[in-house]
Amino acid sequence: MISSEHLLPSEILENSKSVIVYFIPFKKDIVRSNSKGICSSKEWAEAYVLTTQMIVKLNRFLSEKIQKMGFKMAEIPPTHNFDKDKLISNWSHKHVAYIAGLGKFGLRKMIITEKGCCGRLGSIVTDLKLKPTNRPDNEFCLYFHDKSCIKCVEKCPFGALGINKFDRKKCYQICLSNAELHSKMGYADVCGKCLSIVPCSLRNPVIRGKKD
Ligand code: SF4
Ligand code: SF4
Repeated sequence: MISSEHLLPSEILENSKSVIVYFIPFKKDIVRSNSKGICSSKEWAEAYVLTTQMIVKLNRFLSEKIQKMGFKMAEIPPTHNFDKDKLISNWSHKHVAYIAGLGKFGLRKMIITEKGCCGRLGSIVTDLKLKPTNRPDNEFCLYFHDKSCIKCVEKCPFGALGINKFDRKKCYQICLSNAELHSKMGYADVCGKCLSIVPCSLRNPVIRGKKD
C-alpha cells in the first residue's frame, strides 16, 4: 500500500529496525465544534496547531530517551512534508499507522483507530528493535465492514469526496482557505468536516456500534 513516492524507513535512518506510530485523539467538544458550518471551527484549527507543536516536542522527548539507551532515532515532522503540486507526502504517517496495526483505512482514506479518526498521528524511525504490534484483521470502517455508512461522503460540503473519489486538490484548496481564516493562531490548513461527528470520529464503530 506504500506509494513508491514515499520513503522507506531505511531511507530515513540507516539500519532502522522499528517505526513507532502514535495517535493523539481530539476531545469530543473539539470534534463537535467542527461538525456544523462550512469553515473549520476555531477549536479544530487551534487543536491542529497545538498538536503539531506537541508532536514535535514528544518526538524530541522520545529521541532523547532512545539516544540515552544507546540507539538512534530520526524525528519526522508531523506535517507539511509533502509535494505541493502532487499533494503526496514523502513519508505517510497514515500508511505506517496501518502497517503498524494502529488502525485501518476508512472510506475517507484516513486512519480509524480504536479512539476514532479525529486527532493526529505522529511517527518516528529508530534502530532500536521493538516487538511489533499485531495488525487487526477486521475492518474499522462501517462501509468496508457491511456497507452501512457513507456519512463522511455525505458530510463533505464541497463535493470533494465520493465513494470512489477523493479530489485531493479541491480538498487542499478548502484547507488553505481555512489556514487564511485562522492565520492569527498559526498555520492550520485543515477542514475535517467529513470527519466530525460521524460514526468513526471518536471510536472504532465496528466494535462498539454505530451510535455517536
Ligand atoms: S464515516 Fe462511515 S463510511 Fe466514512 S470512514 Fe467513517 S465509518 Fe467509514
Ligand atoms: S476535509 Fe476535504 S473531503 Fe473532508 S469535508 Fe473538507 S473538503 Fe471535504
